[in-house]
Amino acid sequence: MTSAVRTLVVRNGTVIDGTGEGPRHDWALVLRDGRIDWIGPADQAPHVGEPHEEVDAAGGTILPGFVDTHVHMTMSGDGMNPADLIDQPPHYGYFTAIPRLRATLDAGVTSVRDLAGLDQAVVRAVEEGIVAGPRVTTAYRALGPTGGHGDFRTCCGFDYGTVLGPDGAVSINTDGPAEALRATREVMRKGAGVIKVMASGGVWSPQDTPWHDGLNVEEMSAIVREAASHDIPVAAHAQSARSIRNALTAGVTSVEHGYEIDELGIELMLENGAYLVPTLSTATTPPDPAKSADYAVAKKLRLQEHLGENITAAVRAGVRVALGTDSGICPHGRNLRELALLVEHGMSPMGALLAGTRDAADLLGLSEEIGTLEPGKRADVVVCSGDPLADISLPGDPDNVTVVIKDGAVHKDTTGTRPGTAN
Ligand SMILES: [Zn+2]
Repeated sequence: MTSAVRTLVVRNGTVIDGTGEGPRHDWALVLRDGRIDWIGPADQAPHVGEPHEEVDAAGGTILPGFVDTHVHMTMSGDGMNPADLIDQPPHYGYFTAIPRLRATLDAGVTSVRDLAGLDQAVVRAVEEGIVAGPRVTTAYRALGPTGGHGDFRTCCGFDYGTVLGPDGAVSINTDGPAEALRATREVMRKGAGVIKVMASGGVWSPQDTPWHDGLNVEEMSAIVREAASHDIPVAAHAQSARSIRNALTAGVTSVEHGYEIDELGIELMLENGAYLVPTLSTATTPPDPAKSADYAVAKKLRLQEHLGENITAAVRAGVRVALGTDSGICPHGRNLRELALLVEHGMSPMGALLAGTRDAADLLGLSEEIGTLEPGKRADVVVCSGDPLADISLPGDPDNVTVVIKDGAVHKDTTGTRPGTAN
């Protein structure tokens, strides 16, 4: 249950604050009115006079709330077959999102970026506490070419995107710079905090493949220019080497997936300071032929042949990485398994933690608000039992995420140590 107490003191843990500083043993935090008021060595903690609650980290590690920069809350994460969606009522997807939002928050993720599928209804429902979940930034609908990734019409014309996205589709089909400009303005009008573009085809779309180009450089450039005028980042779904180069040439903020990134792509990323969001949780999951369309299974198996070595090369070259899972394609509520996968692909444990906190916040344009434990930031705090620097797989099991605090309200505390309101 969410607590109404406005002042919290968190102590008895080791702090990793998400700034890149090493672990600090026996530090404490004072959280007031949803913000971090004070952080430092426990023995120097200020006296808190007002009624407050104590959260005992029970010797665990105190971290910033994590950020998953690539999710799809309207998708199940349990395979996707157009035939199964024929009878789904249009708004059913929004109700299925409710337990997924809760599971994501329970897993230690206090902010997500939904890259197509959710509109402002969900953003607001979470903000107002109607639904428990992480803070949501949404793309609303993606922009992609007719017949490309995001155009979920099968060749007979059945459109299963109608039940996966807001207002009857996951994407807006967009052809030519003029339509791209108009569609960008349309999703911004609908409250998009990020613009999602399809730079390549994909696994789940019925009519294209990851090796087809999506929007071209001119179309994406028109989108990037317009989004920049509103300080909104552009996230490009890009899987093939050429689509990654196209997206980076157009100036996108992040490359999502990036599975076939090559040397030139890596060079462009380093030059532009673009982020790579490798979505390894989804990438490394074997496709399930019982639950997925045949065309999707075949495409995925081919992608999996080399993506491990490509992503590792990009990580080793020092590209900026932000944590994103593509949950909705893979199961929800296991988001922090991505940390161990990032380490398997060449990151240090601290680098992976930063990719899921400070750097993910930067990609969302929310560095002033979230991503680190510093005074003035929103009081998003999680506690992980044990030391994630020694075993980066620990936060990946939600049972090890013992405390989740969002905006200074305790959402989860399984330590069994909270004595209740203290004076
Ligand atoms: Zn995705």
